[in-house]
Amino acid sequence: MPSNAQSWVFGANDPELGRGLNHLPYTCFLDEKGKRRIAVGIGACLLDLKAASPLIPQHLREALSETTLNHFMGLGPAAWRELRTVLQFLLSRANRDRKVLEAALVPLHDLPLELPAAVGDYTDFYASRHHALRVGELFRPEKPLLENYDWVPIAYHGRASSLVPSGTVVRRPAGQRLADSSPVFAPTEKLDYELELGFYIGQGNALGEPITIDEAENHLFGVSLLNDWSARDIQAWEYQPLGPFLGKNFCTSVSPWITPMEAVNSLKVRAQPHQNGILHYLQNEHLETVNLNLIVQISTTRSRRAVLAPMQVSQSNSRGLFWTPEQMVTHHTSGGCNLRPGDLLATGTISGERREQAGCLLELTRNGHEPITLPNGERRAFLEDGDEIIFTGWSQTEGQMPIRLGECRGTLLG
Ligand code: CA
Repeated sequence: MPSNAQSWVFGANDPELGRGLNHLPYTCFLDEKGKRRIAVGIGACLLDLKAASPLIPQHLREALSETTLNHFMGLGPAAWRELRTVLQFLLSRANRDRKVLEAALVPLHDLPLELPAAVGDYTDFYASRHHALRVGELFRPEKPLLENYDWVPIAYHGRASSLVPSGTVVRRPAGQRLADSSPVFAPTEKLDYELELGFYIGQGNALGEPITIDEAENHLFGVSLLNDWSARDIQAWEYQPLGPFLGKNFCTSVSPWITPMEAVNSLKVRAQPHQNGILHYLQNEHLETVNLNLIVQISTTRSRRAVLAPMQVSQSNSRGLFWTPEQMVTHHTSGGCNLRPGDLLATGTISGERREQAGCLLELTRNGHEPITLPNGERRAFLEDGDEIIFTGWSQTEGQMPIRLGECRGTLLG
């Protein structure tokens, strides 16, 4: 299949949609009986994989007829590649036999989408050195980066139960924080977003059997935009000495679209150099990272009333991440921890080198001390009720259809 092959499905060759034959992201929708159906996005449509099963190789049909992708994820990269190759041909203009497929296509419109995988465990890393440095400067100006940062991929174990699909309303959490030198329990006054990518694990590993850096890419299934909503005042009071807890676990929004690694692997770039070196278990000859442009937009109660389009807050790119997704997989399992199909490893806030490329308000407003002015004149130190945060992402090679990640959005109840 030529890399710029065209599809016969409506909208599939539209660069604005970014869901061409070179993308084929996975998602899940509810059928007319309210049952979950696994699907692949193509242009303005979804291909219902259960309905398309007569055309899918027999040994993959059972996994793709299930209500989550986990079984299929666990089959490994040969199965993922096989399905992708079959679908790329069936949906291409070269295929003249379209009857079964046409019956399996569902128009997307405003169809509500669900997370296609059941996430058993969710881990959040801290892989942007620019983010770590700038946050460190706010709280420890004398020593912004702790000495472990350049050596060990920092992370915490997150909460899978409060992962929600894009579009779910977000409630402002109440919690314990320090106010005028005394602790109080009250709604957070420092609600923030964090621009992140979440990588889904495909095949897992057995307990006690680490995944080496050379094997790690075979365990990565796909990537989604993710918003790790954070209550900065709760986080600041509780995080020492064991790390984030209630300041992070009230809600994490994830796009219902998973872009397969095969779609972004061809767009990878060399990983960031490490001045001090890398310990051997995290090192190999071809350390590469995904190259995705990322944008944060906001729409407010006032901007919606004025019928304004969402306003851009910042722009970043994942190529500046200090640790690659493969290094996260290898480090996570290096002591023997087992990963399972559908587990989610998030990157942590993805900030660029410059302050305007910051992936959260904590950095952009210097912990609220320097509020930003939005294009409609409103000011923000942290989020206000009614604010909607929208993440988008895309990547493109010259002469190819762009790949646009499924967006991740959430509105603060208000
Ligand atoms: Ca985070």
